[in-house]
Amino acid sequence: MPKLRVGWFTFTCCEDSTILFTELLNTHWDTWKEKIEFVNARILKTNRELKDLDISFVEGSISSDEQAKKLKEIRDNSKILVAIGACAVNAMPSGWRNTFDEETKKEIQFIVERFSHLPRVEPLSKYVKVDESVPGCPMDEKRFLELMEKYAPGNT
Ligand code: SF4
Repeated sequence: MPKLRVGWFTFTCCEDSTILFTELLNTHWDTWKEKIEFVNARILKTNRELKDLDISFVEGSISSDEQAKKLKEIRDNSKILVAIGACAVNAMPSGWRNTFDEETKKEIQFIVERFSHLPRVEPLSKYVKVDESVPGCPMDEKRFLELMEKYAPGNT
């Protein structure tokens, strides 16, 4: 039986859920590797494919047009897309600048422009359909493992 093709992607965030994920590999890799192939995960490999993914886990908020375009590409090439962590689910805390008053927004405008960022930081669902979510800051480990079990039974 072919292995589940899985991707792990990161946008605007602190990447703590990525650290949690790599820590989980210490205890789960021996069982996951029987049924799962990580075909696109920057933290694990340099040779990455963005094609025919069964599940894409996506961490972080969307803060630029370039990121929105990449997210749509991930969506187009994934059967299931999972938002990982609060930043991906509801854009906070990465989107803290959305809450700034006008004066503070003016003060940071040169940074927003320098990095070609959008006026607002948004959750993944603003741009694409999200099938599943793992809330938490960082992600709720138990919920993540439940989803791994749901899509790759016998692997947790
Ligand atoms: S949800 Fe929390 S842990 Fe995850 S990227 Fe955002 S700030 Fe970091």
